Amino acid sequence: MPADLTNTIATLITILVALFGAFLFALWMGMGIWTFNDIRARTRDWLAIGLATLLVLVFPVVGFVVYLMVRPKETLAELYDRALEEEALLRELEETLTCHRCGVPVKEAWVFCPHCHVQLQHTCTRCGGLVREEWDICVFCGTAQRRSSPVETPAPDYGTEPPYPEDPQTVEENLGYRPVTGERYSQQ
Ligand SMILES: [Zn+2]
Ligand SMILES: [Zn+2]
Repeated sequence: MPADLTNTIATLITILVALFGAFLFALWMGMGIWTFNDIRARTRDWLAIGLATLLVLVFPVVGFVVYLMVRPKETLAELYDRALEEEALLRELEETLTCHRCGVPVKEAWVFCPHCHVQLQHTCTRCGGLVREEWDICVFCGTAQRRSSPVETPAPDYGTEPPYPEDPQTVEENLGYRPVTGERYSQQ
């Protein structure tokens, strides 16, 4: 075997080993940097950041797999988005108006509850603004409002005379004929 060929093969092997080493080194560095950036997006705890990066650098592939298994599920940005979303939902819930007596959802402009018929708002005695029954003051002028009791619905006023006379004779006179319905009349 000529010395030249041996030398060439040795050089080739050296180059291949160097290339492979460089590749491994790049992979190792890449995993370390990726882990560092990834953990920084998930926590602000510098101890956790340092430990995670160290874990991947000391145990290159195994440490990386372990890190992927134990890292915090959500990034800080995702956590922030979720908190914003929850807050918006909560505000929406709080802003939904409900009847102060029966609790069914009502619209802002409604004066009476469609379910229990209670009055939902009245006009302020001083400025004429609309005041909801559950408010203590007028939100427009600040005047204290007297809370009306929820059951205070005025009874319909028919005056002193009942709308229809009770006496069947008068009914007959008023109508011009005898009503056929009702036992009291038909038995006559
Ligand atoms: Zn109601
Ligand atoms: Zn007012």
